[in-house]
Amino acid sequence: MRIVPIAKPSVPHRAESLLDQLSAGYRWDDVEAAARAGYPVVSGMNPWWAPLIRACGGLSANDMQRMRGRSHEAVSLAESHFRVPSEFCTVIKSQIGGLGLRMRQPGGTAVRRILQFGGACESSVTVGELARAEGYDVHVVQPLTAFKMDPARRPEYIAFYESEVQRVAHWLSGRDVDEDVLAELLQVKNSITRRIVKVLDLRLANPIYFSMTRVSQMLMASGDYHAVLNFAEQRARFIELLDSLIEELEWAADQPVPPYVPLVLAGNMFNMDVTKTIDQSGGAIVGSLMAITTLYREDVSPVRALAEYLLDMQLKGESSDQAGAVASARRFRIEEEVKRTRAKGVIVSGTTGCPYTSLTRQMEQDFFTKKGIPVLGVEGTAHADPITEEIKMRVKAFIEMLADDPPPKLHRWPLLGVPPQ
Ligand code: SF4
Repeated sequence: MRIVPIAKPSVPHRAESLLDQLSAGYRWDDVEAAARAGYPVVSGMNPWWAPLIRACGGLSANDMQRMRGRSHEAVSLAESHFRVPSEFCTVIKSQIGGLGLRMRQPGGTAVRRILQFGGACESSVTVGELARAEGYDVHVVQPLTAFKMDPARRPEYIAFYESEVQRVAHWLSGRDVDEDVLAELLQVKNSITRRIVKVLDLRLANPIYFSMTRVSQMLMASGDYHAVLNFAEQRARFIELLDSLIEELEWAADQPVPPYVPLVLAGNMFNMDVTKTIDQSGGAIVGSLMAITTLYREDVSPVRALAEYLLDMQLKGESSDQAGAVASARRFRIEEEVKRTRAKGVIVSGTTGCPYTSLTRQMEQDFFTKKGIPVLGVEGTAHADPITEEIKMRVKAFIEMLADDPPPKLHRWPLLGVPPQ
């Protein structure tokens, strides 16, 4: 049998340039224009509800990236105008301060709807209240306490979230969601998630080709930061980007790879500068909890699929810190990632002043230390400033320490695959 080598991609790193184009093509002015034209435009940290928002004729929007450059201004407004105590995390202050700045931009803002998940941390729920007082229309999805869930009562919980789905639909359109449209959008989202899973699996063979800094950008795009579900054109571009990346990574898998230290990242990366430091210090993040790999079920009604998705994501400890991820579940998901990717160590990151991540960091440090898996905890602010020299040195020293260790004798298996027995 003749083995046909995988052809070199026509343009190396084409996916990276497509990613830059996608990000540059997302302009907040267009979002404001859509809101003024009468679209219910919804902001908030809820990528998992994006298909629902779109199925109800709305658009999901996120100006977090735009506001990052003004984070100091936002934090100062949060403390002076909104009276948020200084010891609160910078994420919260950037959010409420950013909403305040949006209201105060010339001409004000037409993007006034906010969809919030009530299972987020308490400080985050407070942001909703402050935003409402500022003139925003805030709708809160009532949460279930997932970590106390009694498995026998699961049908009840699902039914509750189904009713929450319809409450969102009524808030947006005054009627129940069109299930045919929703089902179609869930399939689109699943097809994107499957491609992302393939990218993450293929990247294990050569994580240097597509750095973690780029992976984070790709995950943000899949989380609908660039409106990939809103417009068919954006969606087609994103799918083209992922297909190109898959082709490139299939080729890169057979290329020589410089030595690197495989790591798993847990927690939201508070500052992309940490990711860059890891990338530039001979480390490579091969597994991350930022990646949501849960698929929507396609064999049940789409409303039920959405309800199950929200519940399961929390139980898997896969949702972001703000989405009510179960603190005690996260470490098992991280451990699974370490085994799956044969990582040599874990970096647990968190935001200064965050009670949730200070708890998970401590729990995870104890857990992995007992298991003999090297772990480094880092924390910082949500500002886009360069990270401190101290954090840089700690990250570099951790990677250097692991560079000489042999890789753990573990098996590797695909993200949606079954662990070897
Ligand atoms: S989870 Fe922590 S970092 Fe995130 S908003 Fe809440 S307090 Fe801040």
